[in-house]
Amino acid sequence: MDHFLYRDGVLHAEDVPIPEIAAEVGTPFYVYSTATLTRHFRLFDEALEGLDHLVCYAMKAASNQAILTTLARLGAGMDVVSGGEYRRAQAAGVPGERIVFSGVGKTREEMRLALTGGVRQFNVESEPEMEALNEVALSLGTRAPIAVRVNPDVDAKTHAKIATGKAENKFGIPISRAREVYAHAATLPGLEVIGIDMHIGSQITDLDPYRQAYGKLAELTEALRADGHDIRRLDLGGGLGIPYERSNSAPPLPMEYGQVVKETVGHLGCEIEIEPGRLIAGNAGLLVSAVIYPKSGEGRDFLILDAAMNDLIRPAMYDAWHDIVPVTEPAAGAEKRPYDIVGPVCESGDTFARARAMPPLGAGDLVAFRSAGAYGAVMASEYNTRPLVPEVLVHGHQFAVIRPRPSFDEIINRDTMPAWL
Ligand SMILES: *Cc1c(COP(=O)(O)O)cnc(C)c1O
Repeated sequence: MDHFLYRDGVLHAEDVPIPEIAAEVGTPFYVYSTATLTRHFRLFDEALEGLDHLVCYAMKAASNQAILTTLARLGAGMDVVSGGEYRRAQAAGVPGERIVFSGVGKTREEMRLALTGGVRQFNVESEPEMEALNEVALSLGTRAPIAVRVNPDVDAKTHAKIATGKAENKFGIPISRAREVYAHAATLPGLEVIGIDMHIGSQITDLDPYRQAYGKLAELTEALRADGHDIRRLDLGGGLGIPYERSNSAPPLPMEYGQVVKETVGHLGCEIEIEPGRLIAGNAGLLVSAVIYPKSGEGRDFLILDAAMNDLIRPAMYDAWHDIVPVTEPAAGAEKRPYDIVGPVCESGDTFARARAMPPLGAGDLVAFRSAGAYGAVMASEYNTRPLVPEVLVHGHQFAVIRPRPSFDEIINRDTMPAWL
């Protein structure tokens, strides 16, 4: 559920009509709903009620400081995957004890940053990383709290580019080697083993892979405890999917996911961490764009938008579907026609949808991409020297630009000239 609804025939973000934002900010832009972000965070928090737990928002999904601050004030922890994200979490006022550092290629510099600034734990993904972290911690005269990311070898049944829990993926260590790796970790004086981490993929729409993976995690917890490790925290990762195509999908709800968590690992007395990104931010954001031209081709009609693959890359990169809706509600029973919906970038991959049934639309009409809040603005680029798409946050009747559109001068002047030119 989200807070983007038609009222009096016009799409609103909470209480703000989308055309009002478009008139002030120009198109294209991302708009996020505070109420939806809040609702989604609370759904997870409530789903784990009864367990000692922390919901660590995976900020790579949408990392604007205003979004982070909104979630941090609700009590969210943060899952970060780079030194840049760590700095964002800090800047949003998240204390170190609520920042989890994930990622398969942390540098020593990033380790130093987090050890100095405070960190809840590092999720370590390999033995070379373990040794590097040990050295960095010792050089700072401290110990690094760690969980080792284990790869349970389950099929999350999601798109190949976002599956992470199969043996062939680059992430974590194979669960079959876990006892050996934990034994190694226990010999390193700069590390404090506190738990186990897992993250099997993204846009997972079936609870079975979770049930299998968390079942294996429970067995591993007991095996490692028997080996003498003090396993007191389980990080279960993120990945719960959202309904991108509303007419034909209904992924599991956080409450049902929470039930699986309780059934599989609830008896272990561990503190539970989860790292949802997409489900918190995905349906909390729209990408709003205007039609530049309708164009009739041979046997097909195009809508050329002012948004492009550089603003929202998911369709080009993951073959992703986004519901695309007119901002002015079509009359009941209005006739729809199939359009290829494309951007102006010089690549055929710059196609958002093919043969999508849309009501008649003309130049200047606004459309909104639903479910664009996660992996949207954060993956945007300035390809074709298109200014980085701005972001807007709505809160009830209010809205504010939370990242302005850069001017062309700013873009051009970011480049610097070598002395010989
Ligand atoms: C990307 C990622 C997440 C979040 O995944 P979502 O599908 O957005 O919930 C959580 N944990 C780790 C380690 C990740 O890499």
